[in-house]
Amino acid sequence: MARYTGSTCRICRRENIKLFLKGDRCYSDKCAFDRRGYPPGEHGQRRGRKTSDYGIQLREKQKVKKMYGLSEKQFRLFFERADKQKGITGTNLLVLLERRLDNIVYRLGFANSRTQGRHYVLHQHFLVNGKKVNIPSYLIKVGDIIEVREKSRNKQTIIDSTEAVVRRSIPQWLNFEKDNFKGVIRSYPTREDLNMPIQEQLIVELYSK
Ligand code: SF4
Repeated sequence: MARYTGSTCRICRRENIKLFLKGDRCYSDKCAFDRRGYPPGEHGQRRGRKTSDYGIQLREKQKVKKMYGLSEKQFRLFFERADKQKGITGTNLLVLLERRLDNIVYRLGFANSRTQGRHYVLHQHFLVNGKKVNIPSYLIKVGDIIEVREKSRNKQTIIDSTEAVVRRSIPQWLNFEKDNFKGVIRSYPTREDLNMPIQEQLIVELYSK
């Protein structure tokens, strides 16, 4: 599977939004988007370029895909699953993405980015309902308990992340017990809970062509 190996900050500049892909750096004055908030490349500062409807839809899909760190194939599979569910496809897609274990690890503050969350999951630092799970795309359910394994609780980067999470706060659909290195899924997020600037209907339009 081809993975993007270029500059991570370039993605934010390309998508014209802070995607918070680099943990602490995103909150510091080193953030490349804050310093150079225009698209990368030779023509990045050129103004007045017209974008087609297709181009706008494509950029929105790329933005969300990069935000959650997925390949095109993985993202498409999530979309197809969302499309089969009852309700609004765009909202279903966002809720499914939020239910990924790597995202939950990030949301609970055990990791300072989804990428770091994915690494931690792959390295088996977490239990879900008492069992080891090393699949970043594992979908959590309401009532699931996510906890840091006993032997990983002294890992300094996890401790630092739980201290730093106050900067972005824990969503109200999750319950976080910092002292117990544990989180519980209270409910699935509603669309109102997901306050990222995403126009998911553009993604639905793109994939419905
Ligand atoms: Fe994006 Fe974070 Fe890089 Fe800023 S520091 S451009 S928010 S990845």
